[in-house]
Amino acid sequence: MSATTTPGRTKRSEEELRALAAEGAQLDDTDAAGVARWAAETFPGTLAVACSMAEGVLPHLISQHAPGVDVLFLETGYHFADTIGTRARVADELDVTIVDVLPELTVAEQDAKYGPHLYERDPARCCAMRKMEPLARTLGGYEAWVTGVRRDEAPTRTTTPLVTFDEKHGLVKINPLVTWTLDDLTAYATDHNVPVNLLMYDGYPSIGCEPCTQRVAPGDDPRSGRWAGLAKTECGIHT
Ligand code: SF4
Repeated sequence: MSATTTPGRTKRSEEELRALAAEGAQLDDTDAAGVARWAAETFPGTLAVACSMAEGVLPHLISQHAPGVDVLFLETGYHFADTIGTRARVADELDVTIVDVLPELTVAEQDAKYGPHLYERDPARCCAMRKMEPLARTLGGYEAWVTGVRRDEAPTRTTTPLVTFDEKHGLVKINPLVTWTLDDLTAYATDHNVPVNLLMYDGYPSIGCEPCTQRVAPGDDPRSGRWAGLAKTECGIHT
């Protein structure tokens, strides 16, 4: 299924959402299915799942409890062909609704306005326009979003909470896979026949835009291939 949708109910107040975030923070952070069930029951019709299309594990997990859930894909215009292929498989094979989150400018319009290859000269600005602003705009309609952030992914993510109130975006943020390892993720994908981006098996344990993602050596920090050679390690969505 693929469509642009809007959540189906009125958004609760910030105070109410903060209370729900505090409730969620008490859940068992090793019980991803339990967290997914709580998310589906607590935010019916107002829940979004973020997915980079490295694999479809998180959409699969959440859709078991929230069939047809919106899955947000940041369509930056710079994705690997394998990522677009994985998006298509997730849309076809899972009970989810893909929402393509689009920047204001196409790549051609951005090139015309700022010059080509902005990602080389000013990746922070490129990410702000192609990821952060579109995501913030889209999240405004939801009460909660679910992400696949894991504590083992990078030194910047070791203290990631299970559930929190996302101050930047003004909604509840839920990270059900926070205690998982990459092996846990691939085992779930295998056990449940979930689509996996072939790049995951080709040296890309963390997949972003093609110009800003490189292969990493076995055993290296999975996110070390993102903006390799630059001080930048995060696009800003989770920081
Ligand atoms: S990851 Fe690279 S290409 Fe993608 S939005 Fe950020 S700077 Fe631009």
